[in-house]
Amino acid sequence: MQSIFYERASDPAHALRLAQQPGSKFIGGGTNLLDLMKGGVEQPMRLVDITHVGLALVSELPDGGLRIGALTRNSDLADHALIRQRYPLLSQALLSGASPQLRNMATVGGNLMQRTRCPYFTDTGFDMCNKRMPGSGCAAREGYSRTHAILGASNACIAVNPSDMNVALAALDAVVLISGPQGERRIALADFHRLPGNTPQQDTVLAPGELITAVDLPPSPFAAHSHYLKVRDRASYAFALVSVAAALEMRNGVISQARIVLGGVAHKPWRVPAAETMLAGQPFSRELARQAAARAIAGAQAYKDNQFKIELAQRAIVSAMASALHNAGENA
Ligand code: SF4
Repeated sequence: MQSIFYERASDPAHALRLAQQPGSKFIGGGTNLLDLMKGGVEQPMRLVDITHVGLALVSELPDGGLRIGALTRNSDLADHALIRQRYPLLSQALLSGASPQLRNMATVGGNLMQRTRCPYFTDTGFDMCNKRMPGSGCAAREGYSRTHAILGASNACIAVNPSDMNVALAALDAVVLISGPQGERRIALADFHRLPGNTPQQDTVLAPGELITAVDLPPSPFAAHSHYLKVRDRASYAFALVSVAAALEMRNGVISQARIVLGGVAHKPWRVPAAETMLAGQPFSRELARQAAARAIAGAQAYKDNQFKIELAQRAIVSAMASALHNAGENA
């Protein structure tokens, strides 16, 4: 049995100091990390408990946006009055994820760092997985691929990011705040998660020893017209086959700006600005939505079991956009 050192940090600076020891991992809710440790996928030498470092606050920013502390629990965030009022898309996405029990434990920072549910990654009985063992190959490319990527994949890995929250945050132009030995930095959510390329073992651009402290949301023009649509194999406690965060700003019946982000199709939330640009300045119609959907999945490549995702993603985009308008009582 491998020994694991456990230390509880008292504040973010203390957490950063503790995490400079080789083999350290931060632990918050532990809903993903502990599962992976039990399965032997993650084998940290030292756990730095960050649940008591004072990063569980939601506060208003001077520009009208919100700052969400990285240790805010998913259920608390989904139910927060200001999130429900100003960012209902985020609340919807959070409530579509996992189960109430898991949402009560899971944190925003942990959700950002959530690892793929590719079965060849989570089961150490399989000996081909570049994400778990770099250089070993990718069993999913020729194996079971129903839940895998159709966009942005590489020869090394076709896994998808499993988070619902990340898809909504990408649509809301969120920014991730990070502290590390070199100081603080801010990274747009869209740039935080990586495509797999030749290094699929790196899910994000976070460097070793860096700590996510918060997520900033800018003021949103999308509160009245947004919708998170999640398509999955069962009604709850299942990861997305495809999900869509659709957010529209409407002025006099015309879309003034749009955000369309796909989940369940790539190694990161999949946003195509060109598809959003097609929508700007146009009144909503299903034909327009279909054209934007086709643009959003341009270049999609299916594998043995997931051809259905290409059509499903397009239909989901059209449906999510229609629901985003319907949510505010407009005729879609
Ligand atoms: Fe591993 Fe990625 Fe291939 Fe899955 S898709 S087996 S995570 S390399």
